[in-house]
Amino acid sequence: MYSEARPQAEVSDDPRLGDVVVGSDRLAERVRELGAQITADYADRPPLLVGVLKGAFVVMSDLARAVQLPVEIDFMAVASYGTATKSSGVVRIVKDLDTDLSNRDVLVVEDIVDSGLTLSYLRRNLLVRNTKSLEVCALLVKKGQQRVDLGIRYVGFTIPPAFVVGYGLDIAERYRNLADIRVYEDSASDRAKRA
Ligand code: 5GP
Repeated sequence: MYSEARPQAEVSDDPRLGDVVVGSDRLAERVRELGAQITADYADRPPLLVGVLKGAFVVMSDLARAVQLPVEIDFMAVASYGTATKSSGVVRIVKDLDTDLSNRDVLVVEDIVDSGLTLSYLRRNLLVRNTKSLEVCALLVKKGQQRVDLGIRYVGFTIPPAFVVGYGLDIAERYRNLADIRVYEDSASDRAKRA
């Protein structure tokens, strides 16, 4: 797991990159804990890990290596309509899974749950594929933002409802490679420019 300090010149130049919400060491430790929990829960039925691109690519990579079971891995890519920093819940599947889910124990790996609209769409979409079981592991859940209980089995961290980047999460495709998760102060005028 990557945790060494490294020079990131472009990062220090961006005044909108704010406080570290979850640092790389805490991320590594929590992902290891989640991996151990998943290993125990799925001991006799190795799951298919389904990552939701692009944001989940980093957590999927670390989590998969923390699970001591012969898991299989697949990815789907979704695009959600909305502004750059708010999803509308209208989701389009851009890349579907290669794997047939029928009779499989499926564990969806999500980067972040904000309103929960994307996740409830995904859950509905996957459930009709006759999975044997379907659970969700979300690295981050924004506190107080979900209107319904999403029944997320594994949660990495509950964080305040600020927009964050790093460890897979982007703003306009940047900062996915930050080792820490940091607040990104996205002003209304920035959003309007990108819309
Ligand atoms: P929801 O449908 O739960 O409101 O939003 C989920 C999706 O919106 C996530 O999968 C992610 O792509 C994006 N998202 C929500 N909050 C954040 C955030 O703070 N930072 C980034 N980079 N993406 C976010």
